[in-house]
Amino acid sequence: MVEFKDVSVTYSSGVDALNKINLTVNDGDFAFVVGPSGAGKSTLIKLILKEIDATSGEVVVNGFNLRKLRRRKVPALRRTIGVVFQDFRLIPTMTVYDNVAFVLRVIDAPAKYIRSRVPYVINLVGLSHKAKSYPTELSGGEQQRVALARALVNDPKLIIADEPTGNIDPALSYEIVGLLKGINECGTTILMVTHEHDLVRHFGGRIININSGSIAFDEVIGGTNENK
Ligand code: ADP
Repeated sequence: MVEFKDVSVTYSSGVDALNKINLTVNDGDFAFVVGPSGAGKSTLIKLILKEIDATSGEVVVNGFNLRKLRRRKVPALRRTIGVVFQDFRLIPTMTVYDNVAFVLRVIDAPAKYIRSRVPYVINLVGLSHKAKSYPTELSGGEQQRVALARALVNDPKLIIADEPTGNIDPALSYEIVGLLKGINECGTTILMVTHEHDLVRHFGGRIININSGSIAFDEVIGGTNENK
């Protein structure tokens, strides 16, 4: 769960990036975060990951009160969150399998768990046949699926997808959002930042629209895709 209470962020340059934001994203929700460039979307995400601190107000993420959270506890917070970036951020010298396994190896997960969990999530994103491939041998859509598998492997409560379809073919964008929707149906909370209005209209659901550091609207809309 993500909760913002009267949260403001003023950067040292004097820019007010967020102004008294109030927002609750419950466990199991799926929400699109939209808004023009400079609106404050990245600032919102940086707060959730505790890359920056709020100037005032309170941010609670998955039970962690971020104002009170000590530096050495930040990794524990981040282990409850999976992040997918626009530019994939895969390790080019590692296979698909190792890119995903790496996340568990760095936290010293048991080898037996890694051997069962990694193929499971790679299968979930439909890439079992590419497990031994390297990122450069994959299409953009496939690379983003690997990034999604990597975000999922640690079984996070929340996935933040920051413009995940920004670098991939529009047709494949629907597949990525479809995958995120499927993951959400299994209980993971998802926040997806996007500029793509067509995608949002297609899938519908909760739309949090940020404009000039404030929430312009926060509503649930019906999708044009009847089946979703
Ligand atoms: P978005 O992600 O919606 O494009 P941002 O959260 O990146 O918006 O930016 C919100 C506002 O804060 C913008 O005016 C931006 O220029 C400013 N801003 C973002 N990061 C910084 C920073 N590190 N220092 C100063 N100003 C920043």
